[in-house]
Amino acid sequence: MSPMQETLVDFPTRKSASPAEKARLESNKLAKRLRRNVGQAIMDYGMIGEGDRVMVCLSGGKDSYTMLDILLHLQAKAPVRFELHAVNLDQKQPDFPEHILPEYLKAKGVPYTILEQDTYSVVKRNIPEGKTMCSLCSRLRRGALYTFAKQEGYNRIALGHHRDDIVSTFFLNLFFGGKLAGMPPKLLSDDGANVVIRPLAYCREDDIAAYAAERAFPIIPCNLCGSQEQLQRKQVRRMMTEWEREWPGRTETIFRAMCNVAPSQLGDRALFDFASLGGGGAPAASWLVGEGVGEAPAASAA
Ligand code: SF4
Repeated sequence: MSPMQETLVDFPTRKSASPAEKARLESNKLAKRLRRNVGQAIMDYGMIGEGDRVMVCLSGGKDSYTMLDILLHLQAKAPVRFELHAVNLDQKQPDFPEHILPEYLKAKGVPYTILEQDTYSVVKRNIPEGKTMCSLCSRLRRGALYTFAKQEGYNRIALGHHRDDIVSTFFLNLFFGGKLAGMPPKLLSDDGANVVIRPLAYCREDDIAAYAAERAFPIIPCNLCGSQEQLQRKQVRRMMTEWEREWPGRTETIFRAMCNVAPSQLGDRALFDFASLGGGGAPAASWLVGEGVGEAPAASAA
């Protein structure tokens, strides 16, 4: 049989793939895409190398389960050796199902630690009823996890933030914080002791949600405390969803823009030396003295 005949014979078979077969192919594509995205981010940002000890922060949400799953897959195939250690912080929220993560991690043979710290009571004491608790809660959680990493010598802390988290944080900072800043894929903590990595930085939230549903990860909801997501973050998310519906691919374009910054086309003097362009410099500014330039604005009358 000629190659052309083979192709013709093959064609109807492919076309009439059963729904189960189609679902399997889609599932393979999804897994491959996520692994490629994670691998690419790890490579682009030098996230993990030979001998690294990676602490994988596991909250029990879809993102962190997906991150762990993919890192385990990459670890098994990687030519470099690195360690993965899952860590969950039990914050003592009411009804936290504390058996779920240990059971899951034991079944997968993943080394893990469950830290216990009652940040829930601290947050309850400090945030007035009806106000969002997430910001303080996350700060306390980060503190506990970073401290543990430092004590135990983990030189990488992997967090499960994805591309959509990064873009929404960018808009929150832009709209409400007056600065151009998102969440970097790799970050050195302020005290220089921890390197935080976000291996899902290139992954779409939709893909992660589909992957988590397919793998039936035993998800623990992050609202056991009764707190609501911050209103501003919700608004930004809604805006991004509407954009994406109307102009598919817009979130990806924004993310790419964040990785393709042109400081000379913005206005931050700390990033680009505008004053020296064209030979201008400090002495020339003397002619502005007396015009109120550089002085603090006068307080307006009440
Ligand atoms: S929903 Fe509750 S547990 Fe989750 S970050 Fe907010 S305050 Fe913390």
